[in-house]
Amino acid sequence: MSNAKSEEQINDIIEKLTLEEKNGMIHGAGLFRTEGVKRLDIPSVKMSDGSMGVRAEFADAEWVNVGLTGDYVTYFPCNSAIASTWSRELAAKFGKMLGEESRGRGKDMILAPSINIKRTPLCGRNYEYMSEDPRLIEELVVPMVQGIQENDVAACVKHFAANSQETERLWINTLVDEQTLQEIYYPGFKAAVQKGGCYALMGAYNLLNGEHCCTSKYLLNKVLRSQWGYDGVVISDWGGVHDTIQASEAGIDIEMDVKNNFSEYKMADVLLKKVKNKEVKESLIDQKVCNILRMMFRLRMVGKEKSERKSGSYNTRQHQEAALGIARESLILLKNQDEVLPLKEKKIKRIALIGQNAAVTHANGGGSSEIKALYEITPLMGIKKMLGGNVEVNYAPGYVIPKKINNSEINWQADSTMHREAETGNNELHKDNQNVTLQKQYLTEAVELAKNSDAVIYVGGLNHDYDTEGMDRADMKLPYAQDYLIETLLQVNPDTVLVLYGGSPVEMPWLKKAKALLWSYYAGMEGGTALAETLFGKNNPCGKLAETFIREQKQCPALSIGTFGKRDQVEYKEGVMVGYRYYDTYDTKVNFCFGYGLSFTSFKYGNLKAEEKKTKEKRCITLSFDLKNTGNLAGKETAQIYVAPVSQEGNLCEKRRPAHELKNFIKVSLKPQEQQRITLNLTELDFSSYNVKQQAFSLVKGVYEIQVAASSREILLRQEISLD
Ligand code: BGC
Repeated sequence: MSNAKSEEQINDIIEKLTLEEKNGMIHGAGLFRTEGVKRLDIPSVKMSDGSMGVRAEFADAEWVNVGLTGDYVTYFPCNSAIASTWSRELAAKFGKMLGEESRGRGKDMILAPSINIKRTPLCGRNYEYMSEDPRLIEELVVPMVQGIQENDVAACVKHFAANSQETERLWINTLVDEQTLQEIYYPGFKAAVQKGGCYALMGAYNLLNGEHCCTSKYLLNKVLRSQWGYDGVVISDWGGVHDTIQASEAGIDIEMDVKNNFSEYKMADVLLKKVKNKEVKESLIDQKVCNILRMMFRLRMVGKEKSERKSGSYNTRQHQEAALGIARESLILLKNQDEVLPLKEKKIKRIALIGQNAAVTHANGGGSSEIKALYEITPLMGIKKMLGGNVEVNYAPGYVIPKKINNSEINWQADSTMHREAETGNNELHKDNQNVTLQKQYLTEAVELAKNSDAVIYVGGLNHDYDTEGMDRADMKLPYAQDYLIETLLQVNPDTVLVLYGGSPVEMPWLKKAKALLWSYYAGMEGGTALAETLFGKNNPCGKLAETFIREQKQCPALSIGTFGKRDQVEYKEGVMVGYRYYDTYDTKVNFCFGYGLSFTSFKYGNLKAEEKKTKEKRCITLSFDLKNTGNLAGKETAQIYVAPVSQEGNLCEKRRPAHELKNFIKVSLKPQEQQRITLNLTELDFSSYNVKQQAFSLVKGVYEIQVAASSREILLRQEISLD
């Protein structure tokens, strides 16, 4: 990861630095930067959020947007959308484009990607995260990080670790057993470090087993640095450091905060004093500076290669094309009875487009991932620009979105980190009686419009009043009385096409009556274009769910056992049984299972052959099967490989193991009637589980079923294999 020569140079620089200069480098000296050392030509590290694009420029010492016109950017689909593409190529492309935009905006570090596990459907930041499944995250985070860093920008993978709720986010003590951490909550981070080679990582706000993650010796020194061999930079989440001594001893390098009293940060003057008093060893500071300088060499911020550093670019056509490409593959067709979709353009004269998500923009919301988008094509715009003048497209809002009450004088983000009594999901905000009259009027209008149109498209779901940082959702229900509106529209026109936006599943009490349902995560600046193309058959949907769409929240183990959203302590009692690992093991009746998604064409799987290949060093299973597009339309299919234990040798652990686990996948593009022979490998690790006593993953001997599947519940090919 680093070479001996630069290590030598790093040591030389450290020798030249004064203690004060070193201290300046390890904490925020602006809200999104550290201090540089002019004398030695060491620049400050400039950082920016976020996960869907580079955030607007902030004032150096005030939590406000500068408000200039030079910081509009490309708004990319959110991480949940990227995960739904199941495409390593698109993850790489996104990374490359995001890195280019970051460098183009003069940043050294982009505070992305966010890869926390979607443990429940209620976490406010779920839309920023990828999946409930660690393997899918691992496979996508690696190309993403590499793509970003190709541009001489550090990817800062966040939030390490087990940060799956927003309620009391700075103080919640998360209790998770070792095996669960290793099998579910760590793999994404470990892959980002060891395979992706990420240069930076952000500590989470929460405590993990009693220690604040940002200053946890267990997490940062033992797991991250010692076990995984990480030599990059660790930065705190903004306001995540609470103790000077702990910070000095833990493997954290830079303290960041939302406050502008920079010299009062825990790693600023207090720490300096403690070093001078010999309460803290100077070598601990040197270690942090060493990590920071190493990152600077890697990014060509210092040293001989400085003039070679990439300059990046933003708002290019290529970036907008990439945003569109990802959006197209992220849309998930969940239901298409009677082939209602695609809509036949030629047969339609009047379209009723109903629901606020058809017309509102989402970019500038959600918290720190908010984007000042150069533009955002809404579904209304997407449909109108595609159909042109021969079809009448009439819009009706359908439901009322009450204005958000803002009690805070300062920016919510800074505010949300300063008070212990942070908000929890307050859907109450939206139960404003004054809106009832307007709601009735909107409903009548929508129904009238639906009655007088040839086709009805409903675009609703959540928005960033719900999918947002600093707050969890109170429940899984659709807000703004949408269920009633949907039921009514389905009565008026049973062929009503439903499009829902959101960062996690919602209850769908009307599902049986609906014929066509399309799911969109926040799909970026070209989301409306991709949606229009899909509705009218110019894009064949190929997204698949990266999380299970359960029917109601009590089905989620974390919610049914009441270990989510508490204010002091949450124990992850469900252990490794997260998402489909639980639902598939216990046959929970869900709306749509993990990995599910339809296409306008059909695929056939056949002829599985799995065989073990042993060499001296390793053993692996090679499997091959046929995949055929049996329809008349080109399409893409994601084949998923699950491994299910049939009988395992020895009592591996007292707890029940998941019925099966995703171990590999491949996305294949097939022309009409085309067939391909697909080959994939499984490694020893895919048949291992974490052994707490040995503190390592170890192969569990026994009989396994290899499953080739279209989703976690459509297992199309199976073969048993015995590992001894
Ligand atoms: C968020 C981080 C973000 C940081 C800087 C924190 O409140 O949790 O994800 O990167 O602020 O805006």
